[in-house]
Amino acid sequence: MREEILAFEKASQSLDPSPDERAGLRGQIISHTEDFIDHIEDRKAFFSDSGGDSIKSAKPGKETDTIEGIISKLREELDSDGINPASGGHLGYIPGGGIYASSLADYWAAITNRYAGVFFANPGAVRIENKLIRWLNDEVGYPDGAHGNLTSGGSIANLVGIVTARSAMNIKAVDIPKSSIYMTQQGHHSLDKAIKVAALHECHIRFVEMDEQYRMSIPSLKRLIQQDKEAGIRPFLLLGSAGTTDLGAIDPMDQMADVAAENNMWFHVDAAYGGFFMLTEQIGDRFRGMERSDSICIDPHKGMFLPYGIGVCLVRNGELMKKAFAFKASYLQDIEGANEEINPMDVSPEMTKHFRGLRMWLPLMLYGIEPFKACLEEKLLLAKYFHSEISKIPGFEAGPEPQLSVVTFRFLPEEGEPDQVNKKILEELHKDGRVFFSSTTIDGNFTLRLAILSFRTHLRTIDLLIEILQQIVQRLHLQPRPVARSN
Ligand SMILES: *Cc1c(COP(=O)(O)O)cnc(C)c1O
Repeated sequence: MREEILAFEKASQSLDPSPDERAGLRGQIISHTEDFIDHIEDRKAFFSDSGGDSIKSAKPGKETDTIEGIISKLREELDSDGINPASGGHLGYIPGGGIYASSLADYWAAITNRYAGVFFANPGAVRIENKLIRWLNDEVGYPDGAHGNLTSGGSIANLVGIVTARSAMNIKAVDIPKSSIYMTQQGHHSLDKAIKVAALHECHIRFVEMDEQYRMSIPSLKRLIQQDKEAGIRPFLLLGSAGTTDLGAIDPMDQMADVAAENNMWFHVDAAYGGFFMLTEQIGDRFRGMERSDSICIDPHKGMFLPYGIGVCLVRNGELMKKAFAFKASYLQDIEGANEEINPMDVSPEMTKHFRGLRMWLPLMLYGIEPFKACLEEKLLLAKYFHSEISKIPGFEAGPEPQLSVVTFRFLPEEGEPDQVNKKILEELHKDGRVFFSSTTIDGNFTLRLAILSFRTHLRTIDLLIEILQQIVQRLHLQPRPVARSN
């Protein structure tokens, strides 16, 4: 038997490479990723078609290749395909981040592979996560006793908030048909998904009207609640947005908090996109009232520019999270009582998870919060700058003054259907690829939309975009619709 064991050990040796082998692998990957960053300004933000089909034809587990071979294939098919979220030219959807320090923190976290689900297993890792959660709770203005969880992203953070609400409000299966949830049509679809996953979709889901700035209308909310109460339906969950994805609209938090308190409802705020703007002077107290909510979703892989894979759910009363998520297992009996702090696994659907705290901790500890604030202030101003510059170009009509860093606009042509013309402009932009943005539909109109949130988007990016848009208008021979003159 000993010989057989040793033979297997030998056959699996490649899983634990020697120092020389590690240096070889590391050198190749680092030189590739350094080259990627060194040339990020020249790389497209969008690749409409990449070469090669080695990924399509690959047979994982059945074939092997050298690191050089793997990199050379993936350079095209992975790094030069679709959207490039590392590019400052990415202004589509909600742009991603990817700050360097976090990538190294991930490397570190993966090498040491600390277990961040349970305090007993790695007190340091859990302390780091809980400290970050406390920091955010302080920033939003939640009291002592608030807690939270680092999730994989905003969708799961919304799910954690909604499941906590269901448990805290004691909504059982029999109550579902007699309970109601309120949101606007601008609420992110991850809220609808979370409602469904939490089996709350058979509640009455009320879409509250919006004002002209696409914020929840309080009179409409009050009216719907009143009607539901009269019909014997229990309003239990109010969903607000601190920055909608479509338009960056900020719901009236303070008044929503009043309504929630008056009606004994759980108030959850989706601040996945907008949340970190609370740190800026420009937004100042525009989120006032958010501190009176019961739970908040906020996405560091958006507003803190971290690489994808980190969201946060904050809950005003941390004990309620434990009620919703904590379970016991006999094989974990040794660790009961050994946990000085709340275990992440006790406030989350996850157990074993990536140690995500380090990727947020390292940059915060290295640089402090100031550069993050400055970067967010810059984004808010860039959105205003774009809004004013695009308005100066004949034919372009900008949407509302941006509340955060999303700007919508359309070209109004002298001839032709505006929707078709704007689709064509977007197609041309994607073909060019140096800058990428996407579209949305507002009041039935196909609308161009950009969101500025990449830490690499700067003034030169916006100037380049304006130049590209002007070139496209010329190339397509578009004439602006004459402006109606008022005498
Ligand atoms: C991005 C976003 C989400 C979803 O977050 P993920 O991190 O993509 O899961 C939820 N709400 C809003 C407002 C968002 O912008």
